[in-house]
Amino acid sequence: MAKVTPMMEQYLSVKAQAQDAFLFFRLGDFYEMFFEDAVLAARELEITLTSRGAGAEEDRIPMCGVPYHSAENYIARLIEKGYKVAICEQVEDPAEAKGVVRREIVRVVTPGTVMDGKTLSERANNYLAAVVERSGRWAIAACDLTTGELYAVATESAADAADELAVYAVTEVVCPPYVSDRLKETLEGRLKHVVYTERQLIAGDDGAWLTERFPALRLDGLDGTHRSAAALLLQYLTETQKRSLGHLHEVRVYEPSVYMTLDPFTRKNLELTETVRDRARKGSLLEMLDKTATSMGARLLRRWLDKPLMSAGAIRLRLDAVEALQKNLLLREDMRELLKRVYDLERLSGRIAYGSANARDLNALAATLAVVPELMELSRGAGSELLGTISGDPDDGADIRDWIEAAVHPEPPASTREGGLIRDGYDAHLDKLREASKSGKRWIAELEQAEREATGIRSLKIGYNKVFGYYIEVTRANLGMVPEGRYERKQTLAAAERYVTPELKEKEALILEAEEKMVDLEYGIFQQLREKIAAEIPRLQRLAERLASLDAIQSLASVAAANRYVRPDVHEGFDLDIESGRHPVVESVLTSGTFIANDTRLTMDETRALLITGPNMAGKSTYMRQVALIMIMAQIGSFVPAKRARVPIVDRVFTRIGAADDLAGGQSTFMVEMQDIQTMIAKATEKSLVVIDELGRGTSTGEGMAIAQAVIEHLHENVGCKTLVSTHYHELAHLEGSLRYLSNACMAVKESGGQVTFLRKLVSGAADTSYGIYCAQLAGLPDSVIDRAYALLHEFEANAEARAAAPAVVGAAAGGGKPQRRGGAPDAAIHQLDMFADWNAAPPAPKRDPRAD
Ligand code: ADP
Repeated sequence: MAKVTPMMEQYLSVKAQAQDAFLFFRLGDFYEMFFEDAVLAARELEITLTSRGAGAEEDRIPMCGVPYHSAENYIARLIEKGYKVAICEQVEDPAEAKGVVRREIVRVVTPGTVMDGKTLSERANNYLAAVVERSGRWAIAACDLTTGELYAVATESAADAADELAVYAVTEVVCPPYVSDRLKETLEGRLKHVVYTERQLIAGDDGAWLTERFPALRLDGLDGTHRSAAALLLQYLTETQKRSLGHLHEVRVYEPSVYMTLDPFTRKNLELTETVRDRARKGSLLEMLDKTATSMGARLLRRWLDKPLMSAGAIRLRLDAVEALQKNLLLREDMRELLKRVYDLERLSGRIAYGSANARDLNALAATLAVVPELMELSRGAGSELLGTISGDPDDGADIRDWIEAAVHPEPPASTREGGLIRDGYDAHLDKLREASKSGKRWIAELEQAEREATGIRSLKIGYNKVFGYYIEVTRANLGMVPEGRYERKQTLAAAERYVTPELKEKEALILEAEEKMVDLEYGIFQQLREKIAAEIPRLQRLAERLASLDAIQSLASVAAANRYVRPDVHEGFDLDIESGRHPVVESVLTSGTFIANDTRLTMDETRALLITGPNMAGKSTYMRQVALIMIMAQIGSFVPAKRARVPIVDRVFTRIGAADDLAGGQSTFMVEMQDIQTMIAKATEKSLVVIDELGRGTSTGEGMAIAQAVIEHLHENVGCKTLVSTHYHELAHLEGSLRYLSNACMAVKESGGQVTFLRKLVSGAADTSYGIYCAQLAGLPDSVIDRAYALLHEFEANAEARAAAPAVVGAAAGGGKPQRRGGAPDAAIHQLDMFADWNAAPPAPKRDPRAD
């Protein structure tokens, strides 16, 4: 385009600053988009694409726009799709502008920096993170801009960094371009729905930059690597938010080892915060445990579940607090009722710091502060150390509440620009203006009465509109009675005429001036108050944390009481002993029958590993998950679904369950399974819990079984961790003979009169049939197919018997230290049958060991 209009010139120069975002360019009551932005936005938002002339020539450029008042909606939709939106506003008064009104980007909204709108979930944090690599370590700084939380952690590998980011469920990651290829490869493999933003690291000393730009920010404990990540994060926030970020006042550093490690696959598989099938909160452990009354409490509880503790002392503190409330129904209920009156103090603080809080927000803050003393009183009386610490802090924000209650009108409008924000009697000047406006209006009411009497027009009235101001209105029928000369005609309507008089106009000027001043003055007072409160945000955030903790503890206590959970005895040793354990979620959704409880005993001296066999649908994976969940629950300080539980602290729960889920990911399921197993072998320690469901399913039977056995042996010999393995390779039962600390177990099944009943009871010993055909029958396969399958089965069995005369190949137990409890001889018939189970597996691989070549 050779020549463009001055406005277009301005647009292009602003757009140059926001290449990676949609530019919402404010023109009157619309945000307009042009060029590619317009084409793409029209498609993504399903709005009409138009065009406009942009220069001296006849060029027309694509354009589309959204109304200013409904922009939030459109912005939210673009953000949800992973885009960024730069908002460009007029920054000078059009009346005072020479030429085109000056416009600037006032904020860039990105997935990680949304402050409001429906993209934000109340009950979950929204994290933005920065990642940098420094001398072989990966540092992460993560921030929830809405609440002001800021964390830093360093890991030893890109994979660990990716896992850590997955815990935060980050929506946006900022990384420097020079590491981005390698980083992204790892990240993209593990994190879905994340927007990557590349930014250069700041030049020079990160620490100096941070202290200069964020003088109030506490950086205790950050090393150089942490500081680089924090600096990158804050640099990006400064660049996009273009305003003070006073609510970010502390970077909390932690060592990854202070929390239990849960890789993304395990989190997903155990359905800790969402279900595998539809990624819904409903049906997850979190939903089960969440009886919080506030959003802050809900978010904190989720953070607890994301990061189970490793210190027995800290866990017991939480358990003590939960127990104190679990035992005291009345106290718990009172606390819940009070918590229901608590607003989201964290996000209110965020909005106050942002300058976007309105008068209603301040009233919500005051209402929240009003319940604090009573809540803390209850907490003090509960008799637990943790609750005592929470209530021991004397700060209840009473001064802040007083400021608000003295100043802010009890029922203010949502807008801060229309007046009505400040109470009468708070500001003498404001009161005077209000009086002037009121007396002016009174004068007008009196004038209306006087004019009716003077003219004899009973229907005469004085009205007001924005264009003409105050006017006297006379209906057409009464026009004859209008006094000559004294009224000046202003507007003609179909049924009436409107007039003004000089004295009416004079009064009008006074009233309008007073009102305008009032609105400005009120806004000024309000802003001052908001800024005064903003200076107290660190206090409000501490208070928010105390309230959130109370709520999370109250939630765990309520859930424990409602579901007959018991306090786990958490210890630092090895042995796990669960009596009558249950699966917290399955038991709560069971529609028919009752949940069958099962014991679990994994001890250093006897059984460290269980090999669980049994037919499909018998309850194997429910059982294994239940053990993992009970251990995780114990480490977040929750009571557990059991009659009694002695639970050791584990450093990591590793699960590999159900290979079919990853198909959508595009990778070979078997390859993914093997990669996971590799990670597990590399990372598992004696203090870990390993749960593997259907190990080695994705390859041919012989190879699958070989891998399964090798992995089990490795874990047994070299790691010694608590291990639960389920397998349909019944042949593996012989391992019990050779592996000192491995025991067989199976799910009991009752068979009578051709009917099979799953008893869902774990018993020792190996299963000897898989009821595969029976399952097929239950699933409704035609009788002809079922009959044929049974016929084939018998044939295989006959063949196997014939072969049994020959020397056994598998199952030759090496005569370990322990006598064989059960005839562990593999059932060759079942082996054969399982070939069928593998019909959808990978094509048969070479049977030779290729390394022999
Ligand atoms: P498997 O892994 O052996 O194929 P699952 O663990 O998936 O079996 O269990 C199948 C179904 O049986 C579950 O969906 C659940 O409804 C039910 N179930 C499992 N364990 C129990 C139990 N202990 N008590 C009652 N029902 C159970």
